[in-house]
Amino acid sequence: MDKIRMTTPLVEMDGDEMTRILWKWIKEQLLLPYVDLKTEYYDLGLPYRDETDDRVTFESAEATKKYGVAVKCATITPNAARVEEYQLKKMYKSPNGTIRAALDGTVFRKPILVDGIEPVVTSWKKPITLARHAYGDVYKAAEMRVPGPGKVELVYTGADGSEMRETVHEFAGAGVVQGMHNLDSSIESFAKSCFEYALSTKQDLWFATKDTISKKYDHHFKDVFQEMYDAEYKEKFAEAGITYFYTLIDDAVARIMKAEGGFIWACKNYDGDVMSDMVSSAFGSLAMMTSVLVSPAGVYEYEAAHGTVQRHYYRYLKGEETSTNPVATIFAWTGALRKRGELDGIAELCEFADQLEKATIGTIEAGKMTKDLALITKKKDVTVLNSEDFLAAVRETLDGIRR
Ligand code: NAP
Ligand code: MG
Repeated sequence: MDKIRMTTPLVEMDGDEMTRILWKWIKEQLLLPYVDLKTEYYDLGLPYRDETDDRVTFESAEATKKYGVAVKCATITPNAARVEEYQLKKMYKSPNGTIRAALDGTVFRKPILVDGIEPVVTSWKKPITLARHAYGDVYKAAEMRVPGPGKVELVYTGADGSEMRETVHEFAGAGVVQGMHNLDSSIESFAKSCFEYALSTKQDLWFATKDTISKKYDHHFKDVFQEMYDAEYKEKFAEAGITYFYTLIDDAVARIMKAEGGFIWACKNYDGDVMSDMVSSAFGSLAMMTSVLVSPAGVYEYEAAHGTVQRHYYRYLKGEETSTNPVATIFAWTGALRKRGELDGIAELCEFADQLEKATIGTIEAGKMTKDLALITKKKDVTVLNSEDFLAAVRETLDGIRR
């Protein structure tokens, strides 16, 4: 069979540690034999980020804006220990944070479901995609320890000298206080990314806040979503046969537990932080969670939700074999190839992405899997494979499908 041709390059962002090793194996085993892979390569591995003073991360984000689709390997976010380990010039910011800021994007996390690895919540039959707003609120709050009796106020001083005041509390004794903010521009980008992603994946969109208690702050989020929906998306949603649904966060949580899944749940920053960890662990495994950053301009960056799997990498360096799960990284590639295929009108590329996903799931459902899945599956008689043998098994399944 001829290799599938591509017309526009994918932005390829390489990464660190065990996932960098998997990245190379996935390309060799599952992509290069089938696709005449066209990528613009950026090495976001920590040594090269350091060599370029992190310029490479910014360049990769710019390239993503230019071409519209990127695929990213997990990367190290340096902390003090990493600065020492890699002898870094400085403690660089998280590459994901840099790329997200450059694209003004929202992250959508979606679990990969396979038979034999059942969600803890028995009603969940389809994936729940979680969208987390990634700006402001408690993550950018100003906080104070109130030492004793006194008054705390919110004061706004307008650029024109005007003033607004609001008493937070008249303290009779010591306490704590917090001031947080958000921006119309950021909430609008978040809403737009959510509506666009719902349309592009044909899934219902849920949004929930605590607007009954937070009558200005959370209520404003609700209004921004509703106004944008009414003005720009109502008809498009009707045409696509999907709905937008707003409810109180308490109600959303209760409904989620009884829902079937198959929709997008948009959350404010804190709710999204907490709920995404709950939803992903209830679905089974971090190694089966994909992630896509979607910008309001319609730019997509696909990746696995997990990190660089450092502990496995150290074992790999010692020459030991590892059973690291490559599934979420494979799905980052299929997501990106399918989107590239859609944008460029290359049906074979979309079909290949479908086949590779089917082969990956089929291999696991046939009882061949990595150790992390073997530990949680309900299946009997499973074969635990190391990463390379698992990839070889997927390739065999894929060849069977493509024949
Ligand atoms: P991690 O890489 O996600 O791994 C945590 C643990 O989860 C692993 O030790 C492993 O457990 C299990 N695990 C995760 N992915 C797995 C997979 N594909 N297959 C099998 N097991 C898997 O998180 P971390 O160790 O906290 O972070 C390591 C580095 O990743 C850090 O430097 C962090 O900055 C970076 N990170 C990057 C991203 C990103 O680029 N998006 C996200 C998160 C973290 P066992 O060891 O018990 O097998
Ligand atoms: Mg968290």
